[in-house]
Amino acid sequence: MSLTTIQKRARRKYLTYPFIFSLIEVADSPMKKAYWNTYYCCKDVWHNEKMSDRYLARYCKNRWCLVCASIRTAQLINAYKPILETWKEKSFLTLTVKNCAESELRSKLKEMNKIFFGAIRLGRLRKGIFVKCVKKMECTYSEARKDYHPHFHVIIETPEQAEFILNYWLEHFGKDEANELAQKVLPANDGSMVELFKYFTKIVSKGKTIPAENLNAIFCAIKGMHTVRPYGFSVALPDDPDAIEFDVEAIELVENEILPHFGWEQEVHDWISWRTGEMLSGYEPSKKAVAWTKQFEEKVSKSLEKELIQKQKLKKKRKKIHS
Ligand SMILES: [Zn+2]
Repeated sequence: MSLTTIQKRARRKYLTYPFIFSLIEVADSPMKKAYWNTYYCCKDVWHNEKMSDRYLARYCKNRWCLVCASIRTAQLINAYKPILETWKEKSFLTLTVKNCAESELRSKLKEMNKIFFGAIRLGRLRKGIFVKCVKKMECTYSEARKDYHPHFHVIIETPEQAEFILNYWLEHFGKDEANELAQKVLPANDGSMVELFKYFTKIVSKGKTIPAENLNAIFCAIKGMHTVRPYGFSVALPDDPDAIEFDVEAIELVENEILPHFGWEQEVHDWISWRTGEMLSGYEPSKKAVAWTKQFEEKVSKSLEKELIQKQKLKKKRKKIHS
């Protein structure tokens, strides 16, 4: 049985919920506030099927949020697909550099961007090569070597353009930094496109979850950077039609028959109406999904548990004041 849209969203919320605590608990992370935003992402939903099939909620739009990342992936595919389909000889180019330490990661990514743009510019200004491509930045963590592997995946209009960029890359990074054998030009298909727009960093690598400290290091390194960028053309990315900004306080005040409110409850893997007890999606997690959440739940510290209880109390108190 395939899941409905709202059940898919419930699944991603269910999976993100305990996972985000592992990031919140990384000591002294400058991203802590942004991680908390993900805790609140889609926590409250307003829906009335008689009025509209839309679900109104606030979204965190963070790249580590499984709810928001999947919305983003769908948007990217919709925006890029019509253009990429017209490239009859499109190629898939992989550009790498040597693995690096956490402290070097941000400057390394900046350098890679600079070299990449240098190649585009040289082609355009001096060589009569007008590169059209979409580039995605990725970074993985090597548990065995305790270091990071930043790399680019590029879908590019023709193999000639790919070879031109690749040669420039090898020339500028040199043999020590960019191993020639690690760089690849392959024919691209529609599957490569879907692959390209998936999450920036896979939070699971070779069946094992990447430790929160290392994921946090990656997110800090790429803060404010575009992970997907077009060169030589532009695309319009629409906002998610479901993600309508709402004045939450105002809704709580006018909560009534027209716009009933549903709040996320992790234990029942669904949004529940506090008024009627009705569940919004009817999502049932698979064994695999339950196992995924358990690994994080076991690690939640006592101090975070306390903090969560306090937040819930505060919310109930505010609700009382409004009612
Ligand atoms: Zn989100």
